[in-house]
Amino acid sequence: METINTEMKKEGMYDNVLRQYNQAADIIDLHSGIRKILVNTNNEIVVHFPVKLDDGTIEVFTGYRVQHNNALGPYKGGLRYHSTVDIDAARALAMWMTWKTSLVGLPYGGGKGGIQINPNNYSIAELERITRRFTYALGDNIGPDLDIPAPDVNTNSTIMAWIADTYSSIKSPSVRQKNLHVVTGKPVGSGGLEGRDRATGFGVVTSIKKWAKNAGKDLNGMTFTVQGFGNVGYWASHFLVQEGAKLIAVQDASATLVNTQGINPEELLDHSKGNSGNIQGFSDGTELDSELFFGIECDIIIPAALGNQITSSNCHEIKAKVIAEGANGPINVDAERAILEKGIEIIPDILCNSGGVIGSYYEWLQNKRSENWKLETVLDMIEDKLGIAFDKVAEVSKQYGVSWRVGAYIVALQRLELTYKERGVFP
Ligand code: NAD
Repeated sequence: METINTEMKKEGMYDNVLRQYNQAADIIDLHSGIRKILVNTNNEIVVHFPVKLDDGTIEVFTGYRVQHNNALGPYKGGLRYHSTVDIDAARALAMWMTWKTSLVGLPYGGGKGGIQINPNNYSIAELERITRRFTYALGDNIGPDLDIPAPDVNTNSTIMAWIADTYSSIKSPSVRQKNLHVVTGKPVGSGGLEGRDRATGFGVVTSIKKWAKNAGKDLNGMTFTVQGFGNVGYWASHFLVQEGAKLIAVQDASATLVNTQGINPEELLDHSKGNSGNIQGFSDGTELDSELFFGIECDIIIPAALGNQITSSNCHEIKAKVIAEGANGPINVDAERAILEKGIEIIPDILCNSGGVIGSYYEWLQNKRSENWKLETVLDMIEDKLGIAFDKVAEVSKQYGVSWRVGAYIVALQRLELTYKERGVFP
């Protein structure tokens, strides 16, 4: 049961990314030719593929992979299994990946995709066949030096392992081992990186720590709420509680739970693991009407679910000091304007949740070099890279007198512009 109308809320994600892009492009007077290139996607792959279900019937699924831009390196971005996945959602999410990888200085472009599916309706065996058949349908449109998927909403390390295995299996035996890094976010036993599981949530909290230091505030004793208690929401809660902050409300697709005394994220995770990933029914919290979630009095809000969750209809209720965007595109452009006018700060998605793709980059490098890195080393490297990007965004935002989101776009677009100017456009 979904407590929020996801169909309605996903509308406009593509409009939002274009509006954000145009605003920053105007400010820096982005070269007109480069502007035309970046507003378009390079490739849009749509595949329809049949899968035999457990009861013997055949269903045809639709999968997407949008490759927005690869000026800086191979396309990089997650695969999402959700009923809201369509070509516009994939376009928007792929564009955000191009800005994100450029902003944090990775040798990647941006891509995104997934399958329009509610995974709860299928058995594990069916999901494995759907994933393998999707990988087969994508064929050589993905590859370790071409386009490297990763986990996103409703996809995880097991699904990445199936993709890596299927992709390698359709290669000639002599090159199979060279293809492990066709996906990142794999289980550690299958070429995955120690710490990739927590990389995004860790990065969200790294950003929040940087924000607090910048603002001269102490996180100890602050209260926070989290929307989405999956990979990003759980790990962000885990790390923020370690800083002394108190988790007072959580919302997922099943319920909205509040406890002003504090919710223990580890206990909530244990509960959700035994409850098909849902927080509903957790004994140490009271259920609240889902529409009231963003109005809960707190210091920090971490949206870590879907796009367009904070809109003109609910943004006026927000009372927090800062919103740290774990999710991609959780706030629409009109709502953002109203939030900033109220003096509430926003750490933008392309910066705040970039720990995930930074972690993916280290997994990719580890596979290319046949090395294995320790968890502490990985977390240190993520903190460093994200910290550098954060400082740059703070500096550029100040220089131009713009919000952090616009500042982040300026950094990302200027790197892309420079690359195109240096290389020219073929032929
Ligand atoms: P996930 O599948 O692990 O978790 C998603 C969570 O969102 C679940 O708790 C689910 O119940 C909840 N949710 C779904 N629909 C909801 C609704 N309508 N209302 C409230 N909650 C709802 O996904 P994830 O990997 O944690 O990704 C969450 C967000 O973070 C996405 O926007 C994703 O693009 C972004 N992100 C993820 C990563 C990553 O490494 N996984 C990296 C960067 C950004």
